[in-house]
Amino acid sequence: MVHVSVNDECIGCGACAAIAPRLFEIDGSTMKSKVKKQPTSEEEVELARQAADACPVASITVK
Ligand code: SF4
Repeated sequence: MVHVSVNDECIGCGACAAIAPRLFEIDGSTMKSKVKKQPTSEEEVELARQAADACPVASITVK
């Protein structure tokens, strides 16, 4: 199964959490995205990839 991570370059735009709210959330203290849950289905892997593609600063790694 793939592993998703978000690096410190995140600017907290919220795109990933809008695309995949089960997988990403904006941390209220840092105002950056964090991974809520690793993908556990092909659908969630696809959503994680879509979020990574949509991230304006390429902070999301799916591997
Ligand atoms: S899409 Fe990228 S920049 Fe925007 S909140 Fe998610 S990780 Fe951060």
